[in-house]
Amino acid sequence: MNNFTYHVPESPLEAANQKTSDRHAQFIAGGTNLVDRLKVFLDKPSQLIDISKLDLQTIETMADGSLRLGALVTNTAVADNQDIRRHYPMLARAILSGASQQIRNMATVGGNLLQRTRCPYYYDTAFPCNKREPETDCPAIEGMNRNHAILGSSDHCVAVHPSDMCVALAALDAEVEVISPQGTRQIAFLDFHRLPGNRPEKDSNLEQGELITGVKIPDTSKNSSGVYLKIRDRASYSFALVSVAASVSLEGEKIEGVRLALGGVAHKPWRATETEEFLIGKSLEENTLTQAAEIALQDAKPLSQNHFKVELAKRAIIRALKVSAQGGGVV
Ligand code: SF4
Repeated sequence: MNNFTYHVPESPLEAANQKTSDRHAQFIAGGTNLVDRLKVFLDKPSQLIDISKLDLQTIETMADGSLRLGALVTNTAVADNQDIRRHYPMLARAILSGASQQIRNMATVGGNLLQRTRCPYYYDTAFPCNKREPETDCPAIEGMNRNHAILGSSDHCVAVHPSDMCVALAALDAEVEVISPQGTRQIAFLDFHRLPGNRPEKDSNLEQGELITGVKIPDTSKNSSGVYLKIRDRASYSFALVSVAASVSLEGEKIEGVRLALGGVAHKPWRATETEEFLIGKSLEENTLTQAAEIALQDAKPLSQNHFKVELAKRAIIRALKVSAQGGGVV
């Protein structure tokens, strides 16, 4: 760990001003990913701005019926919230499928959005890595890539985003609120994270100095039958090979609303909008679900070791849609 100075701001704006004035400063809240990176010199901040005590720790229902999660609400508090369990169960289940209870007690909403990939080459400084050091190399493309992307990757990076919570937030059409010295702005969740392109070192579209203050989930995305299905190598404390956040609402026999997002397959949470459009107005027949899954994976470009993810994702989509249509619950 390198030497750094330590600053405790009294307001979100002061925190953003402090970060703007020092481009090598970093925010710290729960520290569940940052401290790991500090220990192995992946991140070498000049300054840590400790935002953990700022007043961003509440879950509120807004006048328009939306739910606002303060950026410093812990993952445990979100997953335990009764309104979230009732109205946005895919979000609670996504969080509970990730990490351990101890980590969820420390990890925050804002930090979850900003956690970095778990690609092993990124953490091992004996290897080059375009995400860690631009214009070096991506050894995963020809190397160990079993856990890597099958959608939206580039010749520069094939990493996946590790979050479970973000997959549910992508499906729920959440919005990210940020503050900077220039004011506040809202970023649609699907625009928050980036595909790697030729700038894999940049995970999100946050600008220098911007601080996440909250995440808003619209009232219209309430669905008590929403599900989160996570497929992984072991039953707990493991990142997704493939995950699916899905909710289906029926009008009689026909699908009148559907939300579908995938995790473990791309550099960002992957919303399957074309599949959603295909399903609207159709009935839940096996053939229809099979076609829907094919559409979701039609652009997949698997790597040498992860062809299995394509079929796995298709089957997971079908299962998650069926369970949600039957009323939800544990998948
Ligand atoms: Fe680095 Fe991305 Fe390649 Fe992993 S996949 S080695 S994070 S550039």
